[in-house]
Amino acid sequence: MFGVDLDGVCGDYTTAFRTIVAHELGVAEDALPLERSWDFREWDLERAGGFERLHGLAVTEHGLFANMPAIEGVTDALWRLSDAGIHIRIITHRLYVNWGHASAVADTVSWLDEHRLPYRDICFLGNKPDVGADVYIDDGPHNIINLRNAGHRAIIFDQPYNRELDGERVSSWSELEEVVMELATDRLGATQSQLPGVDAGADRLDRRRG
Ligand SMILES: [Mg+2]
Repeated sequence: MFGVDLDGVCGDYTTAFRTIVAHELGVAEDALPLERSWDFREWDLERAGGFERLHGLAVTEHGLFANMPAIEGVTDALWRLSDAGIHIRIITHRLYVNWGHASAVADTVSWLDEHRLPYRDICFLGNKPDVGADVYIDDGPHNIINLRNAGHRAIIFDQPYNRELDGERVSSWSELEEVVMELATDRLGATQSQLPGVDAGADRLDRRRG
């Protein structure tokens, strides 16, 4: 099972949020650098009530989760992984604020449909190690650390705010697809028993027919 985070992995949170924050602050988007820290300190959100207030406005009044651009390559990569038999579980902490749950959930699943992202199930929760995936992709430094501390394989989706973390990292969905496909192939090879009377190797059927 492949545990897939949404914000900063499937959807471009920074770009979508920047448009809304620029509007709320009455500044040009360029004034808010995309190379930002996890806590947005470069954007000085305190002048408009802080991150939580702006994020809440973005979700409930600006349709942040409905209008977020998809990260390049995510749809095709997830379809190929899904076709390969990999169970895709979306894991997101989008309900961490105590209001706007209905629109957050509705906008999230509409967005997944609109961008044609395949998934078997979806978890809205903060404690990501609880969901039992074999491998996780996430961009949040705290999530990566928690997952790894719990003994899980957590791959970092490269973003400006997570570059201080060491360990396995990818910078695109094509790179990620390769890593996950390789892992799935290893697992299948290790868990599926060899059919009796059939030799190993990619040309096994040809050899038998011959
Ligand atoms: Mg994220």
